[in-house]
Amino acid sequence: METGIPSDHGPVAAQPVAIVLFGSPGSGKGTQSKYIVDWLGIPQISTGDMLRDHIRLGTEIGKSIEARMRAGTLVPDELVNALVAERVTRPDCARGFILDGYPRTTAQARQMMRLLTPLGVEEVVIHLIVDYNVIIARMQGRRVCPKCGTLYNSVSRPPKTEGICDLDGEKLVIREDDRPEVVRERLDQYEAQTRPVIDFFREDHHRVFDVDASRERPEAVFGRIQAMLAGIVAAKEVAV
Ligand code: AMP
Repeated sequence: METGIPSDHGPVAAQPVAIVLFGSPGSGKGTQSKYIVDWLGIPQISTGDMLRDHIRLGTEIGKSIEARMRAGTLVPDELVNALVAERVTRPDCARGFILDGYPRTTAQARQMMRLLTPLGVEEVVIHLIVDYNVIIARMQGRRVCPKCGTLYNSVSRPPKTEGICDLDGEKLVIREDDRPEVVRERLDQYEAQTRPVIDFFREDHHRVFDVDASRERPEAVFGRIQAMLAGIVAAKEVAV
């Protein structure tokens, strides 16, 4: 559809849109974020990545959260709220952004609304639903190359030789986050603190799209997300 708005990417929203990718650890939020970045040309805001950067750089914030992150427990609401509040005011967010891993508590969801409403940002929630057993299998199968960082999965993306990186022949390892006891803790945290957020969104009359992400390959799941979002983005184009 012709909108008169120049863009190298797909549809352009007349009003900035926050695409909230919601789902348990291992539901594919990161993978789907990357597809949407390529499609719409808006940035991915991953609170997990922002926090890991702080740890890697050894900042005061990093030091204060390291133990919690390692154990798989959530970090304080005020901290992530402040990180997101600063991030969304940067110029690259002017046309919208993807929230990956935020909000994770109802307190964060309330704060998100207080932040987005005055900015004129409309939010839409994509709820990736994945069966518990599928998540456990996916996370148990994850391996990473300690040298180049390439991620593998024994089910969906196996290396050519089991346990060995295709790119540099390094022995693959289990990521700290994917150790079984940490996985269990992250899933417990999700059930106790994060799952109620979806009820908050529904009760508060937000647009929530449920996507079954258990069975299909990531590209097919993305196709369905695209179809859901295309309607919204196109409707906004008409309003330009
Ligand atoms: P992720 O990469 O999104 O799975 O996040 C990794 C870890 O970062 C989580 O287990 C939490 O310890 C922390 N974290 C990320 N996002 C949030 C958030 N919105 N609220 C609290 N803790 C978070």
